Amino acid sequence: MESPLETVTELQEALNELKSLETQLEGIPDWMQELHDEHSARQEEIEAIASQLDAAAAERRTAEAEISDHQQQLKTYQEQISLVRNQREYGALLHEIDLVKGQIQLCEERALAALEVQEESQQRLDSEREKFRDLDGRYADAQSKWNAEKPGLASQAETVRARVKELKGRLPAGVLALFSRILDRHHGQALAVARKTERAGKAPQTWHCEACNYHVRPQSVVQIADQGKIVFCDSCKRILILDRDSH
Ligand SMILES: [Zn+2]
Repeated sequence: MESPLETVTELQEALNELKSLETQLEGIPDWMQELHDEHSARQEEIEAIASQLDAAAAERRTAEAEISDHQQQLKTYQEQISLVRNQREYGALLHEIDLVKGQIQLCEERALAALEVQEESQQRLDSEREKFRDLDGRYADAQSKWNAEKPGLASQAETVRARVKELKGRLPAGVLALFSRILDRHHGQALAVARKTERAGKAPQTWHCEACNYHVRPQSVVQIADQGKIVFCDSCKRILILDRDSH
């Protein structure tokens, strides 16, 4: 009859496979990662230029709106010239006119500078978009390929999920509860290999837990190897398994 240790080992393998499938399904597959990173980076660059362009356009609109306000003001002042009653009022009005003309000039400089940025950004944007087209096309192809692969992976995950359920059903409730606790504590890895420790000369063979390096008693190794017993590491409490050349 199959030992609980064998079932636990199979369960851990199935869980690892399921996790890998789910990670792939939720994210980007390995074969697509590099293309995805390049695509995102270029897309971000293009978005940065586009927002520079927007900012310049907005600055230009603001400056032009201010010019129009100031020109309105200037017009009002110029109309008032015929209404002044004395030299002092005339002087004050001329002063206001000079001020507003100065403001118009500043705004025109701002609008011109913004226009230059706008034109330069637009050129860069056009050329970057042109260069991006090929990459974007390759990315779209990769995405459709990935979308076509997904259902296969999803059904594979479904099969493994059913296997996990079946294996869990085969384990005694107590063992399953323990396994689940260890799994939670050690980020989904409940098993650790008991490995032969390198020995110097004729020193007796010893073993250690590969996960935490703690010494494993020879008696435990015998229990695992000969009886398929579930034995825990004395230190990290993971379930110990043997690799092929450990006993
Ligand atoms: Zn350990």
